[in-house]
Amino acid sequence: MQTLLTYGAKRRHFRCYQIALDTNRQESDEDMKQKSDVFLGDAHRQLPKVAVLATMHGKQIALQETFAAIGVDLTLPADFDTDQFGTFSGEVPRRGTMEEAARAKLAAAMSVSGISAGLVSEGAYGAHPMIPFAPAGLEILVWYDKERNYEIIEHLLDENPVYDHSEIKRFEDLGPFLGRINFPDTAVIVAPSSNKSACCGKGLRSLRDVEEAFKSAVKLSEDGTCFVQTDMRAHMNPRRMETIGRLGKTLAARLTQLCASCATPGWGLLRRQAGLPCKWCGEASMQIAYEIHGCIACGEEKIVPRSDGKTHADPAHCGICNP
Ligand SMILES: [Zn+2]
Ligand SMILES: [Zn+2]
Repeated sequence: MQTLLTYGAKRRHFRCYQIALDTNRQESDEDMKQKSDVFLGDAHRQLPKVAVLATMHGKQIALQETFAAIGVDLTLPADFDTDQFGTFSGEVPRRGTMEEAARAKLAAAMSVSGISAGLVSEGAYGAHPMIPFAPAGLEILVWYDKERNYEIIEHLLDENPVYDHSEIKRFEDLGPFLGRINFPDTAVIVAPSSNKSACCGKGLRSLRDVEEAFKSAVKLSEDGTCFVQTDMRAHMNPRRMETIGRLGKTLAARLTQLCASCATPGWGLLRRQAGLPCKWCGEASMQIAYEIHGCIACGEEKIVPRSDGKTHADPAHCGICNP
């Protein structure tokens, strides 16, 4: 694996740090279709006809159609085990950052399939970065075209993930949890509380299976408590599958945007610049002043005004007027 992990050391890559909140970045299928119709003409010539999708958790359901619409056929590598790169249930820890894990998966899929372009998704679920006690899920999609030598990473923060757990001593107490997570559409993972990586069952979608796993977990647990959590693999968690699908649309739309100078796909947001001037005193506030869009291949950049047309910040956000 060592050589695969370093395959992209010199590639040019985008890091799109735009975190698209699920509440304000929902592109309807109609929007997407219009975008594709408008921009697809030239993108067809620059995008590969085939790309490998480094997954074994059914993510093609969320992504294949979207990429077919921009002329890219996503194919699956045969006998590809992504669990070797880390599992949500904790038996195999993930190595490195999300991006490193995603790239390692993608490199392996490209190597076994012999396809020179690929797509991979990676997710991380945990505590919300800003809101106490709320869960959140960060999803990334990495697109890499080896021939044209560029990489694009899109991120999405899901603030309403189906990500939850419950600790119980009696099986009857599991009801409220199962109701909350939309069981059995969302499957569960069961383990003893004292050793959460000693999985007693995952992908469980029937009450009988959950009860069987519960019994084993309680026996193994030091304090007789069982830990039940949502299964976060895409094919076991419809909400996650939907989120990946949404992110796929954002990425596909971006791939249809070619750089005006060099025609590399993926022109788009690179970063946002804070410092919108205060309406009262004119000093720079912490609010976003403008966006910088650009191309990774040739370094072309362009300043783009805020999409909401705002040119000045409310004094409430000013460190001087409202310290
Ligand atoms: Zn001010
Ligand atoms: Zn360019």
